[in-house]
Amino acid sequence: MKEQIEQLPSKAAAERQSHKALFKKLKRKPPKNLDYVMQELHEQTFERINCLDCANCCKTTSPLFTDRDIKRISKFLKLKPRQFEDQYLKKDEDGDMVLQSSPCPFLFEDNKCMVYEVRPKACAEYPHTNRKKFHQITVLTLKNMSICPAAFEIVEQLKNKL
Ligand code: SF4
Ligand code: SF4
Repeated sequence: MKEQIEQLPSKAAAERQSHKALFKKLKRKPPKNLDYVMQELHEQTFERINCLDCANCCKTTSPLFTDRDIKRISKFLKLKPRQFEDQYLKKDEDGDMVLQSSPCPFLFEDNKCMVYEVRPKACAEYPHTNRKKFHQITVLTLKNMSICPAAFEIVEQLKNKL
C-alpha cells in the first residue's frame, strides 16, 4: 500500500486528461443508473482496500468541521467547543474550519481514529464516491484522486464501464 500511495500523485497526473474527459461526459449526460453504478464500484473497491492500511487522507488533508461536528467532538473529548477550536482548528481561506496541522492529531500510530464514533461528517463520507449525483462533485474528485487510492481505482473502473 505504501508504494501505491507514493505513486498515486503521478498516476493521477498521467490520467488527469482522461478523467477530465470522463467527467465532462458525465456532466453533459449523466447515465440514468449512475448512482447505482457508483454505489456498486464503491462497495467492491472498499472490500479490497482497507483504510487502516492507508489513512492517507488523515495524514495529508483536513476535513471541514461543521458546527455540529465541533459540538459533538468537543463533547466526546470533554472540552468546550471554544477550547476544541482553539486547540485544533483554524479558519481556511474560504472561512471553513479545518485542522491546524496534518497529519490529523486524532490519528493513532496504527491508523485508527481517536474520535472515530464522532468523527466529522466529511471524514465519514470521504472519498464521497458513493454519494448520489456523483457528477456534481467532479472537481473535488479530481483533487481526491491524488490522495485516495480507492477514489482513483473507482474512477478508473468507471472509465472502463462507460
Ligand atoms: S478513504 Fe481513501 S485515502 Fe482515506 S484511508 Fe481510505 S483509501 Fe486511504
Ligand atoms: S478525525 Fe479521524 S477520520 Fe478524520 S481525519 Fe482525523 S483521524 Fe482521520
